[in-house]
Amino acid sequence: MYRQQLKFKQRRENLVDQLRSKGIEDERVLDAFNQVPRHVFVDTALEERAYKDSALPIGMGQTISQPYTVARQTELLEVFPGERVLEIGTGSGYQAAILCELGAKVYSVERHKKLYEKARSTLRELGYSVELKLGDGSLGWSAYAPYDAIVVTAGAPVVPDDLVNQLNVNGRLVVPVGDEKKQEMVRVLKVRENEFEQERYRNFKFVPLVGEKGWKEN
Ligand code: SAH
Repeated sequence: MYRQQLKFKQRRENLVDQLRSKGIEDERVLDAFNQVPRHVFVDTALEERAYKDSALPIGMGQTISQPYTVARQTELLEVFPGERVLEIGTGSGYQAAILCELGAKVYSVERHKKLYEKARSTLRELGYSVELKLGDGSLGWSAYAPYDAIVVTAGAPVVPDDLVNQLNVNGRLVVPVGDEKKQEMVRVLKVRENEFEQERYRNFKFVPLVGEKGWKEN
């Protein structure tokens, strides 16, 4: 058992080296990657592949994002301890755990019941405290708004306006926007009431955001 844990710890360190060489610079984000056991968030049959820099299936046609993508999104969010962060697309719960390691109070919405339940038990087992909701995250989660940061881990056709409306002043929204094949990472910063700045970053590939303010289910 101990030997097994040590093996995964070493693989995490290798993954962190890879992320650094691919351009991730925020040491707090890299530290978080060293803390979260990604292999626990995937099926045991996929455990051996958990520390490669690639996406893996998690059921219901969905994936746990590639570590580089999670790292880049997290870096762009610029999360500080004590901040309130909303994630859309809980999936396996891995990104939520990374945000917890950064000291955030994390809220996360998932539309698939099976994934929501699985993520809830994984996060609980590892001792991460996250507020989870089953529902359509394209509308945000108004009950706990406003948030200091919002991250969407599925590709949207446009920047969902409900999410922009749930940002605090100085809040950041990071959302992949594009067609079904590829998306650009859009970062919206709420500078002051009714004033926003937008930046865009190179191409990414996500599963679609399906919902009222996302893609229609087919
Ligand atoms: N952050 C996840 C990645 C999951 S992939 C992780 O770390 O594992 C994206 C997830 O978004 C999928 O689980 C998908 O079911 C979910 N999703 C897609 N559209 C959604 C919506 N409108 N509301 C909530 N979740 C959604």
